[in-house]
Amino acid sequence: MVSDCALQSQDLAVAFNFASECFRSVEGLATRFCRSDLGSAWIEFRAREAVCGPSGIWRDWLATMSTKRIPIHRPIRAQIPLEALDLFREMKNVKCTCPPIDWKGKYWERHECPGCERWWSLHSRLAQLLPGIRPWHWPVIQSPRAQCPYPEGSYAAAQWRPNEAAQARWRELEAALKERKRTAKYLADHARDCTSRDRSPRP
Ligand SMILES: [Zn+2]
Repeated sequence: MVSDCALQSQDLAVAFNFASECFRSVEGLATRFCRSDLGSAWIEFRAREAVCGPSGIWRDWLATMSTKRIPIHRPIRAQIPLEALDLFREMKNVKCTCPPIDWKGKYWERHECPGCERWWSLHSRLAQLLPGIRPWHWPVIQSPRAQCPYPEGSYAAAQWRPNEAAQARWRELEAALKERKRTAKYLADHARDCTSRDRSPRP
């Protein structure tokens, strides 16, 4: 007998393949859109925000699937390799020392700080490790606290949207990290209890 959970996994896989096909068909269009907006998109990329928001059809699909995903969170979380969790933990601790972006100057010539370089290098490795990541899932994670990096009132600011899928991955990794911490603490406590029991005087 197939459990509800497995059924939903199958549904998800079918829906994912369908959406991938849909996305592939509009991919050329999306790429052209991205290129026309490359200057601002590149800065956004550097600012760890969404480079090119998913197309409408893709975004709608993600919004629909995000509610269906809830019951199968645990199996997805179980697929996250330990190395990915280590990377994520390190990424969260990386400090950015970039100066504020001078939008009136040659902002496209600015260099990223060592922290940002490290963050993107870890990000590349994370993208290889997380299950189900495709080339258009970029960035693969985004902080739920991410804010629009563009100047208020600009066209780019009006277009900016949080990357919901990347933020969902961030939350998933965060939950997995907490779970691992709890398990490690439980095991350490258990080992300590066993040791103290062993050392206690026998009746
Ligand atoms: Zn930086």
